[in-house]
Amino acid sequence: LSIERFDIASGLRTAATRFRHLSANREIAFELNVQEDAAEVIGDRNKIDQVIANYLSNALYFVNEQKRIRIATVREGERIRVSVYNTGPHIPEDEMDQIWTSFYKVDKARTRGEGGTGLGLSIVKRIMDLHHMPFGAANVHDGVVFWFELPLAA
Ligand code: ADP
Repeated sequence: LSIERFDIASGLRTAATRFRHLSANREIAFELNVQEDAAEVIGDRNKIDQVIANYLSNALYFVNEQKRIRIATVREGERIRVSVYNTGPHIPEDEMDQIWTSFYKVDKARTRGEGGTGLGLSIVKRIMDLHHMPFGAANVHDGVVFWFELPLAA
């Protein structure tokens, strides 16, 4: 890891702009709910960018006809939690652990088929484990949310 202090709020704005361009002709409501003007965190900036990109790439793929994707940050004590939500199919609760395993594909209807590698979330897991920081996924009423946390710089 190449640990540094960086502003995750600006990283999320950049990622959101890039993914807005990628989804420009799909009428997706792409929200960015980052209250902090700047949020200095400690981590490997390039690897965290990859985590965000993998979450967003999946969100763009799995988003359903309700077409909502939202990136949000929330402060959790000494940490910041970054989440990516999309409206779309739920992940069966008994498969929540396996999705983080290399090449695991939950089922045909919810994999990215030839377009997916089944690697994206295993890379996320490896990066967050290297940071010793928590991450996860959860079903919410009309979709799923994927999240991770990083320590705020003092
Ligand atoms: P891939 O997307 O290439 O299949 P990933 O490691 O990125 O591989 O994801 C593993 C599995 O987790 C996917 O095949 C899918 O079943 C599930 N998954 C990931 N992101 C989402 C999402 N946003 N909504 C629903 N299921 C998801």
